[in-house]
Amino acid sequence: MRGPLKSLGQNFLVDQNIVDRIVRSAALVPGDAVLEIGPGRGALTEQLIRQAGRLLLIEYDHALAAAHSELYRENPAVTVVDGDILAVDLSALLAGQSGWKVIANLPYNISTQVLFRLLEVRERLSQMVLMLQKEVGDRLVAPPDCGDYGITTVLLGLWFDIRREFIVPPGCFHPRPKVDSAVMRFVPLPQARVEVGDEALFRRVVKAAFAMRRKTLANCLKHADLPVPEGIDRLLEQCGIDGRRRGETLSLDEFARLSRQLSGV
Ligand code: SAM
Repeated sequence: MRGPLKSLGQNFLVDQNIVDRIVRSAALVPGDAVLEIGPGRGALTEQLIRQAGRLLLIEYDHALAAAHSELYRENPAVTVVDGDILAVDLSALLAGQSGWKVIANLPYNISTQVLFRLLEVRERLSQMVLMLQKEVGDRLVAPPDCGDYGITTVLLGLWFDIRREFIVPPGCFHPRPKVDSAVMRFVPLPQARVEVGDEALFRRVVKAAFAMRRKTLANCLKHADLPVPEGIDRLLEQCGIDGRRRGETLSLDEFARLSRQLSGV
């Protein structure tokens, strides 16, 4: 067998106890539709196949995708897609069924991008259990006004309840990564946690607020070319938010207040 590819973030799980804990966290019930991103050498897949009613595997390593296709060619419950999770038409692949559970030990180099892709299809999902680099997981559950709080915290927190299940040390993988990992559980909310008005504007405000961490919120927003005819200072005043604060001190509610005001709702 060829060695693991660093370029594809291939750190394979070799600890059966961790495999069991991840699958248990997903609380599968018979008939569940499961998407596994990056099945790799099948550490999780072997368990999933026994418990899921339907299994969709998306793997970018052609050799590994071919091996899974061969292994499951007579199992109609399994679909193998040889493709890039960032490029495939995920909505089309998940169409016709809702309540998908996503389970993955994600390639760390693209994990944040994958999270944003999954955010786009959240309506098709019932939950996700994802292994991430611990730092990325920390950012997702960070409170305002701490170094880890950032764009992903706010944008993902708008649509998901997120909690950390457990930490996984490097020794549980081959090859060993340099950092700790964390298994995180995401449950999509039936509607946004707060009303934000135009969500595209909300995203622009959030991104602008974090763009220059050393500058004040007012300064950051002034650089963002937002549609504010009466000016940023007036906008902040209308929202009751002090423009001398740093962007990272704003709560989700405060970001939502700004984007609602900008959206005119
Ligand atoms: N699930 C296996 C495990 O736990 O041992 C493998 C996990 S490994 C961290 C990440 C897997 O994602 C690898 O199999 C890798 O080939 C695959 N992968 C990397 N980039 C991908 C992409 N863009 N789309 C789909 N799969 C990808």
